[in-house]
Amino acid sequence: MDLYEIRKQFPVLKQEVYGKQVVYLDSAASSQKNIDVLLAERHVTLDFYGNIHRGAHYMADKTTEVFEGVRDKIRDFIQAGSREEIIFTKGTTESINLVAFSFGEAFIGPGDEIIVSEMEHHSNIVPWQMMAQRRGARVVPWPFTDSGELDPATLRSLITPRTKMVAFCHVSNVLGTVNPVREITALTHDRGVKVLIDGAQAIQHLPFSVQEIDADFYAFSSHKMYGPNGVGILYGKRELLEAMPPYQGGGEMISEVRFSGTTFNELPFKFEAGTPHITGVAGLGAAVDFLKKVGFDQIRAHEQMLIEKTTACLRQIPGIIFYGQAPVKSGVISFNIEGIHPYDAGTLLDKMGIAVRTGHHCADPVMARFGIPGTIRVSFGIYNTPEEIDRFAEALNKVISILRP
Ligand code: PLP
Repeated sequence: MDLYEIRKQFPVLKQEVYGKQVVYLDSAASSQKNIDVLLAERHVTLDFYGNIHRGAHYMADKTTEVFEGVRDKIRDFIQAGSREEIIFTKGTTESINLVAFSFGEAFIGPGDEIIVSEMEHHSNIVPWQMMAQRRGARVVPWPFTDSGELDPATLRSLITPRTKMVAFCHVSNVLGTVNPVREITALTHDRGVKVLIDGAQAIQHLPFSVQEIDADFYAFSSHKMYGPNGVGILYGKRELLEAMPPYQGGGEMISEVRFSGTTFNELPFKFEAGTPHITGVAGLGAAVDFLKKVGFDQIRAHEQMLIEKTTACLRQIPGIIFYGQAPVKSGVISFNIEGIHPYDAGTLLDKMGIAVRTGHHCADPVMARFGIPGTIRVSFGIYNTPEEIDRFAEALNKVISILRP
């Protein structure tokens, strides 16, 4: 597909901000949504909407068919072994909280350890800390290298007979590092330990199979892969999900409710209490179709070009400090400018129509590791163009000339 044709499917990118056409470089926070995603949500809403799984009439059945069809699409997209291993949640955050709670209840006791990489988003740190406190366990940090990489040898030295889980990201939302997931899962499994992979920044950029990388759990969000917000996915191996207790109680997750005791539904419904974001799931189906139609070869090639061009532009500016210099990167570039606070730079860029993210990016331990308050983060989607990178570089030079006398 032609890049400019793809871009046309994202009408919001025609927006003007402060009188200038917006350059949206914040897709790691949330990507824009294409027209087909909105049409899929509208189709369900306007043409036949009913609540799912509660059968009894045509509209409910038709809505259920769409909803369950998207479960099949996701299974195929990440190459899971079965549809029962795909759980719909609110987002990556809820997916990880679900595992931390339920896996914790089933498998973690006093004195046990959970290893968490230091490059994680807060949503892959705090749920483990909360669970550890509840279960009398301990969270052990796995430091990253100066170049922003996770060294499997360091992990090997951290695993003890008390380790029950290793939690890490496929791609870092600050450093852009693509972690060697297969190598990490292999060494972790060799020691009898399970892994949770946070795929929030990988799912929209890289093709992979959860079976091939041998993830025990894999979490991601629809709104970072061109789909609607309020929908997430948890993939979990069936035997683990079956051994874990439900996370939330309510409608749909039960088999039979009596005041003398309740029995629970089968997978995946056991983990899907209450009415989910039905229309959002329909939109997610369209987002998956879009990603497949564009194809990961084109996505990878285009995004690599954007990363290389942006890095080359930044290298020409004196005083740029990069964070994350791994050989394989995806989606984001983080940097600071000597003598300039990232927030000041971000505010001025915004006034020039350039949307970047500044701050700690919900990854305080990464900031602490570098001893900085935050970074400027540029992140890409398939709709970004080389011309936008030129406009960003031009604006950044102007910002520097204003802020650095
Ligand atoms: N993990 C990573 C790596 C992220 O980048 C984010 C969001 O930025 C999250 C988790 C949390 O995702 P959500 O807010 O969709 O739950």
